[in-house]
Amino acid sequence: MVIEKNTVTVALVGNPNSGKTTIFNNLTGGRQHVGNYPGVTVEKKEGYRHFKGNDLTIIDLPGTYSLTAYSLEEVVTRNFIVNDKPDIVIDVLDTSNLERNLYLTVQLLELERPTILALNMIDVADASGLKINDAKLMDCFGSIPVVRTNGVDNKGMEVLLDKIIQSSGQQKNSKFKMNYGLDIENAIQKLETLLLPNYKKLQFPTRWLALKLLENDTNIIDSVKAFTNANSIMSLMNELRTELSHKLADDVEIYIASQRYQFVGTIYRQAIDNRAVSTVTISDKIDKILTNRMFGLPIFFALMWFVFNLVFTLGKIPSNWIDIGFGILGKYLATIISDGPLKSLIVDGVVGGVGSVLVFIPSILLLFLAIAVLEDTGYMARAAFIMDRVMGRFGLHGKSFIPLLLGFGCSATAMMGTRTLENPRDRIITMLVTPLMSCSAKLPVYTILIAAFFDEKIAGNVLFSIYFLGIILSLVMARLFRSTLFEGQSEPFVMELPSYRIPTFKSVVIHMWERSTLYLKKAGTIILAASILMWFLTTYPKDIEFSRDYDGLLVQAEETYTQQVHEDVLSKLEIENIDQNEKLAALIRTIQKEEEKFAEETKDLDEDTPAYIKLEQVKNEKILQLEKQSEELYLYGTKYVELTKTLEAEKGKIENIKSGEQLEKSYAGQFGKLVEPVIAPLGFDWRIGISLVSGVTAKEVIVSTMGTIYSIGDGNENAHSMTKALKSDEHMNPLIAYALMVFVLIYSPCLAALAVMRRETGTWKWPIVSLVYSTTLAWIMTFIVYQGGKLLGFGS
Ligand code: GDP
Ligand code: MG
Repeated sequence: MVIEKNTVTVALVGNPNSGKTTIFNNLTGGRQHVGNYPGVTVEKKEGYRHFKGNDLTIIDLPGTYSLTAYSLEEVVTRNFIVNDKPDIVIDVLDTSNLERNLYLTVQLLELERPTILALNMIDVADASGLKINDAKLMDCFGSIPVVRTNGVDNKGMEVLLDKIIQSSGQQKNSKFKMNYGLDIENAIQKLETLLLPNYKKLQFPTRWLALKLLENDTNIIDSVKAFTNANSIMSLMNELRTELSHKLADDVEIYIASQRYQFVGTIYRQAIDNRAVSTVTISDKIDKILTNRMFGLPIFFALMWFVFNLVFTLGKIPSNWIDIGFGILGKYLATIISDGPLKSLIVDGVVGGVGSVLVFIPSILLLFLAIAVLEDTGYMARAAFIMDRVMGRFGLHGKSFIPLLLGFGCSATAMMGTRTLENPRDRIITMLVTPLMSCSAKLPVYTILIAAFFDEKIAGNVLFSIYFLGIILSLVMARLFRSTLFEGQSEPFVMELPSYRIPTFKSVVIHMWERSTLYLKKAGTIILAASILMWFLTTYPKDIEFSRDYDGLLVQAEETYTQQVHEDVLSKLEIENIDQNEKLAALIRTIQKEEEKFAEETKDLDEDTPAYIKLEQVKNEKILQLEKQSEELYLYGTKYVELTKTLEAEKGKIENIKSGEQLEKSYAGQFGKLVEPVIAPLGFDWRIGISLVSGVTAKEVIVSTMGTIYSIGDGNENAHSMTKALKSDEHMNPLIAYALMVFVLIYSPCLAALAVMRRETGTWKWPIVSLVYSTTLAWIMTFIVYQGGKLLGFGS
């Protein structure tokens, strides 16, 4: 055999979860490069393999069920095959779901590239007793190579590689043609004669092109418009479409799709030797319970409830570490940077702002982990199925469920997910209600408020209630939009349920990681910028007129203190200052050290908890020991310590009031005061007003703004834990905290989401509608919650 050095490009195509990436990894080992397709954010994986003297470049194309132009994945996949002309296309099939997977195969072969079928997951098919006749299958598709593979056990890869080399040598395009019936075939022929002269201009096969025109594929229609005889093509197309829809008594595209399904059904029956063995698989058994009419919904909600509790309780532990870490960092930076605007900017603005957001990384990781597991096991599709019945009642399309669910992660990406919806009305309604699904950026707001105002025992329930409210509201609003702005039926729903799978650790971690890095990037850019801006707005102008002479008050406090120390301690001992009595000075140092130690130990403890009381006893005992050593000095010593403590407290209070007034008169404060009348009926003061307005840039910014406001507000240089600051704020109470969560849940989507909406709908109209309606709705709902809660007596 003559081995010639040869470069071969191979594209992997198939349904999502058919095992493309697994095979890709098997074929390429570690040698791969990940990027995006030019112009779009669909991942592109490229890998290399040297096999028997051939250099293979292997491309993992995005998973897709079909090759229409409805989703980005579909367009990317078909454009790649047609424009980049890979030498070989490998159609990776989930053999355990052969019939559904063949639907893509038929469309793939119409693109007329040399194709190999990889019957992947053959182990699953074998286990369920499915017997496939490879030779028959080959025949049905015009003798294309068929290879059995098992991606997990790395089986069949050598054979696959051999077939790749073989086929690439022959350069045999697929000759397969599916017959769509006389009417359609005639129409295809007529269109082909007009298309033929343009063949060079567009790379697509003419038969396929004609078919797509009949299917009203907007993407293809746009390209055809560039042809010289575009007008005659278009008019012929319209003519044919009208004629056909009368003749077939059906939409042409629906008719074509159903022909395909029928055809696939026929092939499937021919290629299967033992159709009768329709054993009940484990998946079916699980589905009997999970998608049960009665239990399906309760199980779904129980699962969600479990997830939110998990996110909250488990996430809190590492969050605390990060919080402490940033506290230490802030303190350290405070010591090495000299006083002044720079220190304030770095400690309060940057560390305080960004730190308060990064604290939520663990919770967000957990949320994404849960979503990834639900996705990878196959439960997500069941959830969509279960919810479809509910969704239908609210005028939402069943497929809307996936974007809505993605909305728990990020509204902006969820809106991109609406591309799978075919009807523009369904898309816009879904986009309008998606932000009501609490995105992960809102989670930090809830977490902080819940930690500050609600008992740990009910924390998970409170969180769940907010998410639940969002779900209910999105459904109600969808119904409302459907019956007002968008009257009319939504399209029927078809969705496949993949078999259950135990998710691989790797894929779950990768999913989780990709989403979390997005969050980190946001913290590094938008949130950092917003933190600095908020710091500026809350710190300036500096030269304000204070209502009281705070500096004078401080001096006065110092004077009172000096005088009292003199009267009560120094004069009694007949000394001028403490250091003149060495024993006393030592005693004071010891007492102060004990107090400091105690304060450090009880930093995170509430008073009158058993742990606190125990530590207090220990401290008191130690101090009592000192009394025994020298009773007289002990009296003066404690007196001195007490006076010093009072002075510190007094000074802290004055600083506090001062920085409070400073904040109130800052630019942000002025603005907050401006909006205060509007939000006062919701229980919100001007500081919450500032946070909410800043939160439109990105929801995480609400927390960083509150972080900045409250750390400035309490005049404490140490990065104080925000929950404590909130708790000690006299304006806040559990009812207001809850009202705030409700408002944050509902009000305007963030800038990123609005921008995506504008891009996806092509006009500013919908983002504006979204902003206005959601903020109004937020106000109304919060008003009801707050005023209602007050009436019920919760407002204290
Ligand atoms: P992709 O979406 O097509 O890229 O699919 P993946 O390669 O991510 O595979 C989806 C899941 O199927 C993973 O959990 C794989 O471990 C699993 N998988 C892939 N190939 C096989 C196979 O041949 N048999 C079995 N049982 N599982 C497989
Ligand atoms: Mg993949």
